[in-house]
Order: sequence, then structure tokens, then C-alpha cells
Amino acid sequence: MAEQNKKLTRLTGVKGMNDILPADAALWEFFESTVRSMLKAYGYQNIRTPIVEHTQLFTRGIGEVTDIVEKEMYSFTDALNGEQLTLRPENTAAVVRATIEHNMLYDGPKRLWYQGPMFRHERPQRGRYRQFHQVGVEALGFAGPDTDAEIIMMCQRLWDDLGLMGIRLEINSLGQPDERAAHRKELIAYLEKHSDLLDEESKRRLHANPLRVLDTKNPALQEIVEGAPRLLDFLGEASLAHFEGLQRLLRENNIPHKINPRLVRGLDYYNLTVFEWVTDQLGSQGTVAGGGRYDPLVEQLGGKPAPSCGWAIGIERVLELMKDAKRVPDAQGCDVYMVHQGDEGRIRAFIAAERLRDAGFDVILHCSPDGTPSSFKSQMKRADASGAAYAVIIGDDEVAGNLASVKGLRQTAASGAQAETASGQNGAMPNAQASVPFDALAEYLIDRVAGA
Ligand code: ATP
Ligand code: MG
Repeated sequence: MAEQNKKLTRLTGVKGMNDILPADAALWEFFESTVRSMLKAYGYQNIRTPIVEHTQLFTRGIGEVTDIVEKEMYSFTDALNGEQLTLRPENTAAVVRATIEHNMLYDGPKRLWYQGPMFRHERPQRGRYRQFHQVGVEALGFAGPDTDAEIIMMCQRLWDDLGLMGIRLEINSLGQPDERAAHRKELIAYLEKHSDLLDEESKRRLHANPLRVLDTKNPALQEIVEGAPRLLDFLGEASLAHFEGLQRLLRENNIPHKINPRLVRGLDYYNLTVFEWVTDQLGSQGTVAGGGRYDPLVEQLGGKPAPSCGWAIGIERVLELMKDAKRVPDAQGCDVYMVHQGDEGRIRAFIAAERLRDAGFDVILHCSPDGTPSSFKSQMKRADASGAAYAVIIGDDEVAGNLASVKGLRQTAASGAQAETASGQNGAMPNAQASVPFDALAEYLIDRVAGA
């Protein structure tokens, strides 16, 4: 008995890792196709790297003193060979690894994009999950601020294409290592002066990576952070020129932007330009996308130096905005639902469905849930519920006459009202049904669709 109960225990998904259900499929597909056409418009090429990488890639690539490496990685030892592996928490390091491994920059710079799941062990809440999805770009081997501007403007174009308003751009410059070193000294002195007010995490980071203290999410620290020495004031001529070059292109292209001197980003590999796209509409998970320049990373991971920049968009957060803005596309039903009766009708319906698919139609063939023939009425109910434009019916009469019956299912408001009256009066089928020679079915439907 106990054994039996055990078997019946229902299993659930892993906390923070969501099923994406068919009800949301139209939204995801609309987002994905919009992103793809935007990426194509800028000449970016797709790259797909594995979900699992050596743990070292991320500890070296992202930096030890970061939220991700300190506490968010799904790392494990492969029980079969002892390798230290990690589910990717982000994809820049992996794309750079692949670029180096396949010597992809030998014939010049590359513009790449990826999409897929990322994994971070965080506290799940709205807009923050343990498996979430990013689409991202990496422009590898480009030094100038024109590439920074290009990748930023790609985001703006995407928001426009998706019909999303109110996503604001914040930018900053992290300069170069020597500039950060000069700033760091003053920042540490400032933070030490206020150390009694810092939280535990910030105290720990004060010496290891003080810049990260500026990135704190603790509201109690905002005032201290506000008064901290600004990295921007430590930038030399070249860094300032790069930053000004970016701003000029943004201005010339009418992209509003705000300089946020406290924007540092969560990953260690950035230099010069960093940016985030933020919104007030998602509560505390207001960052929709983030990115910047990471000139040292390719060399740091063993490649020839190649200045580069990129961004990653959090897809779930964008979809949330689309839902809020009622930018949810209608789910598309298929073209035809095949209804059939009798053994011969079932076989003919199967053949007709294949012929219609050959002609380019999307077709659902009725299949009985339990193996016994379904009634005409229940099949028509399913046809209606499927959202199909037409039901094609092949019953005994149609088989005898070598015919198929076609019935329109998507009614206009007016014809719908009419149909209701008609069926109310005499219980007849609401919509007129056409009889079509079996072999002329595809042509008939092509004409109907063309005429509609
Ligand atoms: P946050 O400050 O919100 O933790 P982050 O700086 O860690 O973000 P990035 O590493 O820059 O995030 O990732 C880029 C984008 O991916 C974020 O702007 C966000 O939209 C999305 N993202 C990051 N972590 C999550 C998560 N756990 N769940 C859902 N989306 C996420
Ligand atoms: Mg984070």
C-alpha cells in the first residue's frame, strides 16, 4: 500500500524554473521573430554554444567577486569523470571561448548573437528566475564607439518594433584599469569612512572589489553610494573621447540617454562603455537589458587581443512588459480541422489532410482520444475550439459521392448573430456548407483564402 502511494506522488518542476506553456507560445514566437528580423537588419550571425561549460570559464571570465560567481552558479562535479562543470549563468564568456577555440576572428571581426536559457541560483520572484532566457549580441574585434552606439540602437529598434515605450537608456564609462585604480583608492577611503553604515556584503567587497559596492541593491546604502567619488571624474582623455563619441552618435540619432555615474554592471570584465535599459514598470526587477564593452576579455580567455562589446536582454522581463502593454498577439489557429465518420471516411480524411499540407495549409486531423469513433457533434466542438478557419467533413455521404464538405468556422460578428437566430429557429447547421469534389478540395480552399 505504502509502495503504491509512493508511485502516485506527483512530481513538480524545479523551483524557479518555469514551464513555458502553449498559452504563451504566440507571445514568445512574436518576440523571437521580431528579434530575429532586427538582428538580420544589422547583419548579426547566430551562434549556439552548449548550456554546460567548465566552471573555470565563468570564474575566470566573470570574476570571483561578483554575485554570479559568489553565490548564483549551478556548479557540479560530473560523477562520471570528475570534471567541474557549471550551467551557464550568462553567455558572453562562452561565446568568447567558442570564438577563440574556433579561431573565428582570423579573417576579421564578427557580429554574433545567441538566445537561450541561463541559470542562476537566486531567490525566485516576479522577473527573477533560476532558469531564465536571454537573447544577446557580441560584437567581437571592434574598438570604436560606433559599435557601442550600434548595439545600443539595436535595442532601441527592438523596443520600437515590439511597440514598447518607457524603457530608458542609462550609460556610463568605466574607463581603463589604471583609471579605475586611481578611483579605487579614493573610493576605498570614502567607504572606510562610512564603514559603520555598510551592510555585511559591502564590507566584504570594500577591499576585494569596491566598485561593486556602488552596484548594491540595498536601499539603505543609496545615500552613501550617491556621495561616493565618481569614476567619471578619473577618466583620461582617450576614455572621455570614447564616451563622448558614443554620446554624439546617440544624440545624432535621437536616442535619449541619461549618464548614470553609479552604473557599474554586475560582471567584472567591462571597461569603457556600460549601459542598461531600465523601466519603472517591473517593480524592483527594472533592468530589462544590460551590456557594455569588454576589451580585455578575449585576451584574458587566451585569445589574441580583440576589443569587443555586447548586451544581453532578459526575455521574461520584456515579455512581462509586452503583457502589461497589451502587446500580446492573437494565437493563430490552423487553417483546417478534418472531421470524419466511418472507416472509409477516416482514411480519406487522412489522405486529404496530407494533400492540404502539400498545398501549404495547416491542418489538424481529428483523432479519437480513446480509440473509439467520436461523434460528429464532439468533433465539430473540437474543430470550433481549435480556432481553425474551416472544418472539412468527410462522412458516409461524402465518401459515397466522392466529395468533401467545407464549412467556415470563423464567423464575423454579423454572420455569427445570424447563425444564432437560424439555429435557434430550426436547429439547422448555422453556417452554409459547401460540397466540393474530393480531388478539388485544395484548389477550392486556395480560392476561398485568396478571395477572403
Ligand atoms: P539584476 O541586477 O536584475 O540581477 P544582472 O545585472 O544580474 O541583473 P545581467 O547579468 O546583466 O543581469 O543579465 C542581463 C539581463 O538578464 C538583466 O538585465 C535581466 O533582464 C535578465 N536577468 C538577469 N538575471 C535574471 C533572472 N534571475 N531572472 C530573469 N531575468 C534575469
Ligand atoms: Mg543579478
